[in-house]
Amino acid sequence: MAQSLIQTAKNFGTEEQCLAYLEAMRWPDGIRCLKCGSDKVAKIITNETTRERTNRKGEIKEVRVPARRLYQCNNDGCRYQYSATTGTIFDKSHLPLAKWFMAVALIANAKKSVSAKQMQRDLGVNYRTAWFLDHRIREAMQDGTLGLFGGTVEVDATFVGGRFDPRRKRAAYDKQAVAGVMQRGTEDGPSKVKAFPVEREIKQVMTGIVQDHIAPGTDIMTDDHKAYISLGKSGWKHQIVSHSKEEWVRGQVHTQGIESFWSLFKRGLIGSFHSVSVKHLHRYLNEFSFRFNQRECEDLFALIIMNLAIGNALRYKALIAKTSSEQLVVEAKERYDAERDQENGDPQ
Ligand SMILES: [Zn+2]
Repeated sequence: MAQSLIQTAKNFGTEEQCLAYLEAMRWPDGIRCLKCGSDKVAKIITNETTRERTNRKGEIKEVRVPARRLYQCNNDGCRYQYSATTGTIFDKSHLPLAKWFMAVALIANAKKSVSAKQMQRDLGVNYRTAWFLDHRIREAMQDGTLGLFGGTVEVDATFVGGRFDPRRKRAAYDKQAVAGVMQRGTEDGPSKVKAFPVEREIKQVMTGIVQDHIAPGTDIMTDDHKAYISLGKSGWKHQIVSHSKEEWVRGQVHTQGIESFWSLFKRGLIGSFHSVSVKHLHRYLNEFSFRFNQRECEDLFALIIMNLAIGNALRYKALIAKTSSEQLVVEAKERYDAERDQENGDPQ
């Protein structure tokens, strides 16, 4: 189930809550030293302090230095000090974690996409910050590990985007060609898609895509565009539906899966953006493919946070098998309470 925005505000309103969540996510079996791997790690929580800082006008102001939650390796040769954000994208950012987490929840909850403008309004940050968040989070929305497609795969290309120009006849829209492959769903899992901007829908381009993404011997379905003409001779079982003869479906032979992905993508783009720069098209394709491929994922929020923090979808899969975002919140809270009780000398 997706995190609602209200839940997110409640569970991740403070830096402390976000850090506890990252800790539970990164070290489900207990904290390890990032340098030497030792499990002899002490937690240090520094107190909130204030520091004097001179501003641009030369005035001395007192600024708050928030309490920090750090880890110290107790291995004698190491003694490394680090935090739950060390080595992650969050470490290099001046933005509070609560803003990052809320931005992820906004995008995870959106059916289509969230523009930087909308994020600026919803998060109350400036446009540059919103743009940065938007793009970083999109980059974390990628399936890096889909592998070669097999079984039955539909291959197709379409044109998207561009500005309308009535003076042009043949290409009234200055459009970009986009190619896609869709592995049909089976008992083992739902259908999956990969899509890329391409120069043109021509034989070399489309054959290259098929070679790179589809296992030899696979059943391939395409329309009767001449770009696909030699697939059958090159090691795939190729079946054609003759769009030029107004034939759309012949039993199992059709390209309706990939075509419905195209219409989803186009509607999504129009819904969220006025015009999409061709330069960024691959990012939007990645994001929409990711949303599509993860449509049965029970916790998109956790998946994106994990990709942002660790950048490794494989580890996430192993982890999500036993933990969901809700469990992680509960676990993080339990650890946090236990520590506070210890500090307060509470016997419980
Ligand atoms: Zn160490």
